[in-house]
Amino acid sequence: MIHHQGQNARIPKPRWLRRPLPAGPEYESVRRLLKRSRLHTVCQEAKCPNLWECFSQRTATFLIMGSFCTRNCRFCAVAHGPSGPPDPGEPARVAEAAQRLGLRYVVITSVTRDDLPDGGAGFFAETIKEIQQRMPDALVEVLVPDFQGNADALQTVMKARPDVLNHNLETVPRLYPLVRPQALYHRSLELLKLAREFDSTIPTKSGLMLGLGEFPREIEKTLEDLLVAGCSMLTLGQYLQPSKEHTQVERFIPPEEFDNWKETSHRKGFLQVASGPFVRSSYHAKDLYEGLRH
Ligand code: SF4
Repeated sequence: MIHHQGQNARIPKPRWLRRPLPAGPEYESVRRLLKRSRLHTVCQEAKCPNLWECFSQRTATFLIMGSFCTRNCRFCAVAHGPSGPPDPGEPARVAEAAQRLGLRYVVITSVTRDDLPDGGAGFFAETIKEIQQRMPDALVEVLVPDFQGNADALQTVMKARPDVLNHNLETVPRLYPLVRPQALYHRSLELLKLAREFDSTIPTKSGLMLGLGEFPREIEKTLEDLLVAGCSMLTLGQYLQPSKEHTQVERFIPPEEFDNWKETSHRKGFLQVASGPFVRSSYHAKDLYEGLRH
C-alpha cells in the first residue's frame, strides 16, 4: 500500500543512500553553460541525486520544451503548469551545448506536452537532427513521454533515427493510479512495442523505480511484459521522495536486492541492465549502450 502524504512518518534514509558530494570543479562550469544557453536539464528540475556526480563528469540530460509539465505525476519533482509554445531556437542550442560539453552520447528528454497536437514529437525529431548534423559521431538517446498513445507522433521520433528509444514504465500497473494518474500502463507498454515495429534496428529501453510498495512478483511480471514488448535495456533504481507533497517511499531497497534484480533481469532476457539505489534512466547511459554493442 502507498501511504498518502502525512499518513506515515518518513522512513529515515539508510546508510547506503548517504554519500559525500564529490567536489568536482566542472560542476559550476556545466551549470553556467546550461544557464547561458537557456536550457533546462532533468537533472536539476527533477532534483536528481546524481546531479553532482554527472555535472562533475560533464554529463547532463537535456529537458526540452520548457520546464513545466502538463501532467502531475506524484513521484516527479518537475514543476506542473501551462507552458508556452516550444522555443524554435532550442534544438540548435541543445546541439551547441552538447558539443561544448564534449558529449559523445546525448540524452534528451522532455516535459510531457499533452497540450501540443503531436505531444512534442516533431520537436524531439528536430532536436535529434540538429545533434546529428552538428555532431555526426555522437549518439542520441531520447527518453520520450507516452504521446497519449499517438502512433504517428512516435513514428515521427523514430524516423529521426535516435540510437536508443527510451520510455519508462516507472512502476507496476497496480500503482499507476497512485503514482502516474494520467498515464496508462498498457499504453506505455504499447509504445515500446510499436517502436520496435516501426524500426527494429533501434533498441528500446525502459526503467522502473523500486520502493513504491510493489511486490516482487509484480516486478517480475512487469519485466516479462517489457521483454514481450521487445525491450532489451533496463534501469532499476530507488524511488526517492522529492518533497513532502510527493508519494512517500514505502521501502528502501538494499543494494544486494538491486544486484539480485539485475541477475534476474539478465536471466529473463534483458541484454543490458543497470540496477542500484542511485540508478536513474540516464545514469551512465553511454556505458549501458556501449555494453549492448560489445
Ligand atoms: S542520472 Fe541522469 S538525470 Fe541524474 S544527474 Fe545524471 S544525467 Fe542528470
